[in-house]
Amino acid sequence: MQNIEPILSKPELSRDDIVRLLSADDDASMDLLRQKASGILLENCGPEVYFRGLIEFSNICLNDCDYCGIRRGNTKVKRFQLTKDEIVSTALWCAEHGYGSVVLQSGERRDPEFVDFVEDCVGKIKQCSRSERLPNGLGITLCVGEQTEETYRRFLAAGAHRYLLRIETSSPRLYARIHPESQRIETRIERLRMLNKIGFQVGTGVMIGLPGQAAEDLADDILFFRNMDIDMIGMGPFIPHSDTPLGQTAIAGGYDKDAVFRLALRMIAVTRLVLKDVNIASTTALQAIHPEGRELGLQYGANVIMPMATPPNVRHDYLLYEGKPCLDESAEQCSSCLRRRIESIGRTVALNRWGDSRHFSRLK
Ligand code: SAH
Repeated sequence: MQNIEPILSKPELSRDDIVRLLSADDDASMDLLRQKASGILLENCGPEVYFRGLIEFSNICLNDCDYCGIRRGNTKVKRFQLTKDEIVSTALWCAEHGYGSVVLQSGERRDPEFVDFVEDCVGKIKQCSRSERLPNGLGITLCVGEQTEETYRRFLAAGAHRYLLRIETSSPRLYARIHPESQRIETRIERLRMLNKIGFQVGTGVMIGLPGQAAEDLADDILFFRNMDIDMIGMGPFIPHSDTPLGQTAIAGGYDKDAVFRLALRMIAVTRLVLKDVNIASTTALQAIHPEGRELGLQYGANVIMPMATPPNVRHDYLLYEGKPCLDESAEQCSSCLRRRIESIGRTVALNRWGDSRHFSRLK
């Protein structure tokens, strides 16, 4: 065991420092890291936790990512797409329950019908969600993959103002190993730059605990977030899905859930130490491998939670990984359970607010 205190008291962390913090797996170091990350979070972002209602509106996907349960090649999946009315009414439910923002997420499609559909949903949600409590309507984040610049501009004009596009891993070697050849890391990076230039608040993130991923790769991921001037981070543990090639490899190699979970918490904490004023989500995947995963994520420096708002009848068909929590709870149950969990760790739920990243408001 090494003493990480001298590293934690440095004003700037080097790549080597980051690697050491990410590797400090003993309980005492984890405690120190948690305290430091909480302090930096409170100082730079305050105690508020922002809710984004997550609406997973379709699992139809062109891509064939080796890790993802809804990859095109998984023929066991029953494909669905919610209707516009279902999406809008789910978003309005979120607004009525005090969530200031929603995230529309789906598998990846680029055909004109899909683009029109998303644009229309965004416009309708904006229009219908304006109220005294939310004079500018719901904040809308899109997470619908790689699109053309024109499409991104249309989505922005329709009223979406944040976009999430995970890089998955910033290592070109690892990226190539977990994606088919047609999916290129260069394209993802170029799209992130495009989203930034157009004026979106841009989020990205990675999976933690991928087979063959070293602490050095994760350190480079954090430096990538910084170099790309990212506003929001959504990252979580990689969780094997047995109907995917990478899931099968991981299971055969002895996937160590607890080790991956602890590494994911350290990754959140160290990202907070380096990036200070960005929004970091405590993702559902954390809770899938630990019953208190999301609360712990908040204690290690995260300040955003994405309660599942997807209608329960299709949740079972949006399984990116196995063991996804809350599949049978109503959105109502999810919301009140989360509030209790957040208050239990001494943080406040920020209702009826967009909760933009301070990094974005400060610098642009
Ligand atoms: N099509 C959209 C949304 C992808 S799903 C897009 O490309 O942006 C959202 C995220 O789920 C992915 O970016 C990936 O990081 C994560 N994910 C997929 N499979 C996973 C798995 N097995 N374990 C953990 N996270 C996974």
